[in-house]
Amino acid sequence: MAIICGDPVEPMARILGSRGRASQSEDLVPEFWYNIVPDLPKPLPPPLLPDGRVPPREMFERLFAKALLDQEFSGERFIRIPDEVRGVLISLGRPTPLFRARRLEELLGTPARIYYKFEGVLPTGSHKVNTAIAQAYYNMVEGVERLSTETGAGQWGSALSLAGALFKLKVRVFMVRSSYEQKPYRRVLMELYGAEVVPSPSKLTNAGRSILEREPEHPGSLGIAISEAIEDVLSYERARYSLGSVLNHVLLHQTIIGLEAFKQLEELGEELPDYVIGCVGGGSNFAGLAYPLMRFKLSGKKSDMKFIAVEPRACPSLTRGVYTYDYGDTAGLTPLLKMYTVGHKYRVPPIHAGGLRYHGDAPTLSLLVNEGLIEARAYHQSEVFAAGALFSKVEGIVPAPESAHAVKAAIDIALEAKKSGDTKIILFNLSGHGLLDLQGYMEYLEGKLKDYEPENIDISYIPRVNP
Ligand SMILES: *Cc1c(COP(=O)(O)O)cnc(C)c1O
Repeated sequence: MAIICGDPVEPMARILGSRGRASQSEDLVPEFWYNIVPDLPKPLPPPLLPDGRVPPREMFERLFAKALLDQEFSGERFIRIPDEVRGVLISLGRPTPLFRARRLEELLGTPARIYYKFEGVLPTGSHKVNTAIAQAYYNMVEGVERLSTETGAGQWGSALSLAGALFKLKVRVFMVRSSYEQKPYRRVLMELYGAEVVPSPSKLTNAGRSILEREPEHPGSLGIAISEAIEDVLSYERARYSLGSVLNHVLLHQTIIGLEAFKQLEELGEELPDYVIGCVGGGSNFAGLAYPLMRFKLSGKKSDMKFIAVEPRACPSLTRGVYTYDYGDTAGLTPLLKMYTVGHKYRVPPIHAGGLRYHGDAPTLSLLVNEGLIEARAYHQSEVFAAGALFSKVEGIVPAPESAHAVKAAIDIALEAKKSGDTKIILFNLSGHGLLDLQGYMEYLEGKLKDYEPENIDISYIPRVNP
């Protein structure tokens, strides 16, 4: 001890020794997921067909495992996590660490205390593993042979590929062709886990073939890949579809993040946070951290707690979109969901945060934003990468471009606290690491990052449904 407490290392020893990190005892992993639906201030609008009818359950049963549908429409506040799922999540690294960003605080000179939950320690580098494991498990139990899904940048595809490998399910991933060609490492990762990765549009489906006939070099899109995955599932009885965000059951599985974080803050002797921050693509990592804490706001125990959802300026569904029924996919194959949307045909500019390039948002999140319980902010990617670079330098972790949106907002709020002199407690979700996204950081270092103003937001083509 005397040696390591010698002069040169003492400041570092002080930082490390001052409880900058919560424990990662297995007991911190919850036994129940938290379902926010019964606690919402208003009933959640159901999915609808274009003619205004509620879709029959059989329509969904052909696509999703029954247990997942039960969760999708459940009104129970707590839903038990199967022991097998909890056990696998522990074996893969849960609970994830909760860190205090002390060096960031010092650099900013803020009186705020900044904490972050780091999901990037999971094997594929993001929170998506949490729902992939649960989804693969229920499908395995129900005798499904193959899962089909789509992936853009590859985060979701790699998480589901890993889950498929662990539960011995075949996984077929339709990967947007432009990413398939530009992001070979994510594809290799999926193939290492034994998944079949198909560049989309592909010749495997009618949807893909008809696009390729018209445009053989089509770069693909998430919407097309979703259409292909769904068609693929419908063509094989023992295949099911899997989605990595937006739906209630996906957000439910992610609440493990906030349930752990709550206990970890408590363990550090910390109070409930004043600010809870997360980036939003479809809303799953944000909801995962925020919903278990939102309970304390909804119940009045800490009604001044602020929740901040962060999105890219280039795809500003929460800050500039419309709260209305819209399709979940570009092709208009899915039922309509009541959500904030920039329109399902919105052409998302090619920002690096691939996971945030979605036209809509989860219905529960949208409802809470509409009720004023969650505030939304939007940033350009150049300021987001600058925040990610600064964070890397002081905390050592390179944030995924998606997660760097949350970092940027946390920094801004810490600086606001500095101005007002308030000792606020800030908690944000670092949803993933960016070690497979260094292309964006390279452009940042070379000064080549482009910012994109949002396209015109026109939603007049969306069918009007009246429940
Ligand atoms: C997919 C992804 C997101 C966005 O999806 P959400 O469902 O909004 O969480 C955010 N961060 C990372 C690291 C991702 O992989």
